[in-house]
Amino acid sequence: MRLSTRAIHVGQNPDPTTGATVPPIYATSTFTQAAPGEHKGYAYARGTNPTRDGLAAALAAVEGGSDACCFGSGVAATTAVVQALLRPGDSLVAYSDMYGGTFRLLERVLKPWGLVTRYTDSNDPAALAALVDDTTKLVWIETPTNPSLRLLDIAAVAAQCRAAAERRGTRPMTARGGSPMDHDLGLLLAVDNTFATPALQRPLELGADLVVHSTTKYIGGHSDVIGGAVIARSAALIAPIRFYANAAGGVPGPFDSFLVHRGLKTLALRMERHSANALRVAKWAAEQRGFESVAYPGLPNHPDHELARRQMSAFGGIVTCVLRGGLEAARKFMTSTKLFSCAESLGGVESLVNHPAIMTHASMPRELRERIGVVDGLVRLSVGIEDVEDLIEDLQQALRVATGG
Ligand SMILES: *Cc1c(COP(=O)(O)O)cnc(C)c1O
Repeated sequence: MRLSTRAIHVGQNPDPTTGATVPPIYATSTFTQAAPGEHKGYAYARGTNPTRDGLAAALAAVEGGSDACCFGSGVAATTAVVQALLRPGDSLVAYSDMYGGTFRLLERVLKPWGLVTRYTDSNDPAALAALVDDTTKLVWIETPTNPSLRLLDIAAVAAQCRAAAERRGTRPMTARGGSPMDHDLGLLLAVDNTFATPALQRPLELGADLVVHSTTKYIGGHSDVIGGAVIARSAALIAPIRFYANAAGGVPGPFDSFLVHRGLKTLALRMERHSANALRVAKWAAEQRGFESVAYPGLPNHPDHELARRQMSAFGGIVTCVLRGGLEAARKFMTSTKLFSCAESLGGVESLVNHPAIMTHASMPRELRERIGVVDGLVRLSVGIEDVEDLIEDLQQALRVATGG
């Protein structure tokens, strides 16, 4: 089966008791056992729930992974990857241009826990590999990045990781009670695939070990649920993450799992329209005097355009623009749009406009923010699936108010 078919059919077997074509939402915390320990694979819903399992199967199928594990948010999924696979004292290597919430998690929650993170400002795979030392267990990348929309070459980073791992060999991990979290899994590459989604880019096929999603965004797709997931290349990698999910408990409820799963069924269709609309908006924006610069991987003058053409099947729904006139112009622009709502988040059917320096990336120090290009005049558009003519008219009138043209 191909991706659109898998998104609709995997994890959606008709309910065996009633024949319901769409399986019911299993709103239950526990499962009645015939005798102690004698059950149908479900005992207590922190561990497993059929609604959540159906979603995990579908996510694994669309990413081409062996299995998946769902979480209550994207940041809970990221936390799980670190805490299930690394130990205090281990290090993580990352590209500095990342989601602000991931940066806050690494620096303010996981650093006190004992994680060491080293960042590079370069998207050159060799620059990432150069930071790998004997303590490094995880390389973390996002591509395209948020909100600068730079790309990293996943296949090249994966090759560099393999070479670095071979150079240093593996270290045995000290046993801490024989849980699935006690194995040394070597040097792993995790890709946050939230922006591109499996409809446009499949990191596991390019050599990554793990994919992380904020399913809150395109996969849910309707701005009505918070969720996250980890998809792994192999069963050996998902076992510690599943163990951690049950032991630490950041799992999603059945209603949220249902909403994310329903969104996933139309993902491929929506991504086509998001990408087509965003390309039109980007081309229009590039011609406006009121914008100092426009970033979209689908524009031929984008620094990573050739890589985007190789690595992605379309260029996604996010367009980043810098207004002439800095913060004041950005503020006027964002209070003048009528269809684009001024809101954090992205990836829903409706268009949103965000000001990263004040909103999503406020938790990053100004110095780092500006180094990754998050200046005060920068606005991030999450281009929805409305009629693109209406969207451009809305942006046009807001730009006139903000900059006079
Ligand atoms: C939103 C987002 C996250 C965090 O996900 P939540 O569901 O908000 O916890 C992580 N990475 C990226 C790229 C995001 O856009």
